[in-house]
Amino acid sequence: MTPTVIEPGSVLGVLGGGQLGALFTRAAAKHGYRVVVWDPDRDAPAHRLAAHSFTTPFTDRETVTRFASTVSAVTYEWENVPAELCEQLERQRPVRPSGGVLRSIQNRLVQKRFLAGHGFPVPRFAPLTDPNDLPDLVREVGCPVICKTAMAGYDGKGQWRIDEPSAVPCLVPSVLASALPGMQWIVEACVPFERELSILAARGVDGEVIVFPLVENEHEQGILRTTLVPALVASGVAERAETLARGVIECMDGVGLFCLELFLLPDAVVLINEVAPRPHNSGHYTLDACSLSQFEQQVRVVCGLPPEPVRLLSPAAMVNLIGKDIETIKQDAECQRLLGLPGAYLHDYGKRETRPRRKMGHVTFLADERNIARERADQFHRRLLDAIGHPDGL
Ligand code: AMP
Repeated sequence: MTPTVIEPGSVLGVLGGGQLGALFTRAAAKHGYRVVVWDPDRDAPAHRLAAHSFTTPFTDRETVTRFASTVSAVTYEWENVPAELCEQLERQRPVRPSGGVLRSIQNRLVQKRFLAGHGFPVPRFAPLTDPNDLPDLVREVGCPVICKTAMAGYDGKGQWRIDEPSAVPCLVPSVLASALPGMQWIVEACVPFERELSILAARGVDGEVIVFPLVENEHEQGILRTTLVPALVASGVAERAETLARGVIECMDGVGLFCLELFLLPDAVVLINEVAPRPHNSGHYTLDACSLSQFEQQVRVVCGLPPEPVRLLSPAAMVNLIGKDIETIKQDAECQRLLGLPGAYLHDYGKRETRPRRKMGHVTFLADERNIARERADQFHRRLLDAIGHPDGL
C-alpha cells in the first residue's frame, strides 16, 4: 500500500517551540503547511510563528485530544519531550520519528546499549545507578571519563569530566545533587578525538535515506560554537559516516530527520557519540548553503514525502551566538563589518531573554573557498571572545 502523503494546506504539529521548532514552522510555511506549536514555555519563539499555540503542560490530557484532532502529523524539536505523549498521539496521528524510536534515543544509556548491541562503534561505557559507585566505575572504565546524566542533559549540562581517580570523591556530592528519583548516569571513556563531526540523515516512510554532507564541529564549554562544511577528512571517513548514519536509522526503523554526532579518532576511526531524532544545530548551515534545508527535509519526511537529494551549494562556516553575543554583534564595528560581507547570513532567534550559555542565534559565512568562509568565521568568533573576555564567560 502506498503511504498517505500529507498535502500542502494541511496542519502539522510540533512539540517544542525553541529555535528548532521555529525554523521547522518557517520551512513548513514555505511549503504551504501550517503548524500548531505545543510548548509550555509561553516565550518560546515558535509560538509567534504558529497557526495556533498550546502552552499547557505536556501532561494535559485535554490538550492531547485537541492537539491530535487539529493536526495531520506530529514531530518534535528535541528529544526531551515525553515519549509517553508521543505514544498517546501516535494512536491518532503519525508521529515522526515514532515514540518508540524516541524512547530508544532519549535515554543515553538505552541509546548506547542499543548502538553497542547492534555492533555500532561507541566509546566504552558503564551504567551508574548509585553515585556512590562512581569510584568503582571510574576504575572499571579507566580515566579519563565523562559521567553524564542518562536523561535530559544537553550542551554539556549534567556532565562531569574526571581526569584522575583522586578527583572522584569531590565529585560524588555534585553528582548526587543532580539526582532525581530513579535517575541514572552513564560513565563513558573520554576518547582522544582529533575532530568532532556530524551528519544529518532523513529517512522516509518508504525507507529511502538521504544524507547531508559531513560537517566538522568545534565546541566551547560543551556548547557547539562553529560548524564547517565540507569536512576535511581522510578518504573513506565521509563514506564511513554515511554508512553509520544509514545503518543506525535503518536499524531503528526510524522515519524522520536524524543527526549522528561522531568522534574522529586517529587512524580514521569513527565512533558515534550520540544520535538526535531531530534537526541539529550543526545543520543550520543548510539554511543558507544547501539546495534544501534540514527543516525542509524534516517537513517532507514528516508529511510522508520521500526525502529529497541535497546539494551543497557553497562551502560554509557557521558560528553560534551564545548569551550576550547577540548584543555584542550589534555594538561591535568589526562584527558589523563581517556581517556586512557578501555571503554572511545572520539568524536571530528572537528570544525575549538573553541568558548565559543560551543559544540566541547564529551566523553563516558562505564563500567560494572553505578557507575564506573559515577565516571570516574565525575573525568573527575572535571578536565575540574578545568581548566576553574568555570562553568561560559564555
Ligand atoms: P554530549 O552532550 O554527549 O554531546 O557531549 C558534549 C561534548 O562533550 C561533546 O561534543 C564532546 O566535545 C564532549 N564529549 C562527550 N562525550 C565524550 C567522550 N566520550 N569523549 C570525549 N569527549 C566527549
